Amino acid sequence: MPFGDGRELGLVLTPHLDLSRCPHCATANPSISFRHSFAARPKKLSLAQKTNGCELMWYVYVCESCAGLVGAATQLMPGIQRPSDGAAPSAIPGVRPNLNDWLVPIPRTTSPDVPERVASRLRQAEETLASPTPSIMTSAAAVDAMLKEKGLKDGSLYARIGQAVAQAIITADMAEWAHDVRLDANDERHADESVNEPTPEDAQRCFDFASTLAELLFVLPARVRRGRTPPKAP
Ligand SMILES: [Zn+2]
Repeated sequence: MPFGDGRELGLVLTPHLDLSRCPHCATANPSISFRHSFAARPKKLSLAQKTNGCELMWYVYVCESCAGLVGAATQLMPGIQRPSDGAAPSAIPGVRPNLNDWLVPIPRTTSPDVPERVASRLRQAEETLASPTPSIMTSAAAVDAMLKEKGLKDGSLYARIGQAVAQAIITADMAEWAHDVRLDANDERHADESVNEPTPEDAQRCFDFASTLAELLFVLPARVRRGRTPPKAP
């Protein structure tokens, strides 16, 4: 249960949620506005203990840029009358307005298992999704950096992706996905498509591929290594 995930973000529940980027469209300094609220209580005993038996007050927000939904919940303090549905966060007594216990979705952060030279390019590609050409170039640079980390340094991006399959670093399915996206607009196999300007959807597809590749190459193997490490004796 992800209850508690939002605490470290230190968000204040106000009529506008102060996220630095929209978790959906990655718009910087987005306007994320309060729309509705309601209370809910976990019925499963083990989960109710996590909320100290308290109800959660959910606040539903919408990103004005993409209309994507963001939900933020906070515990209702014991002994306080449940506010009516729809009440704005600032108007509710007994709600700890500066403690956001659960945020959906949690803003994406790059895993510390991803090498910094890869992670910085992924962040930049995501931040520029609204400008397709630079975003795609940066996603391609991220893929390039990932392949270099794996010792594949020579040849075009797509040739090295082929080598990665041959060396069982990635699966053939992953390579086929690479060919479905337009990481390299100048690549011959995309010559017909390259006459068209790339769209934000193209940029999103390239970013999705690059971030999935980072998961497969760095995040999952690190998680497996940690899972196999025997726990230390007390
Ligand atoms: Zn948005």
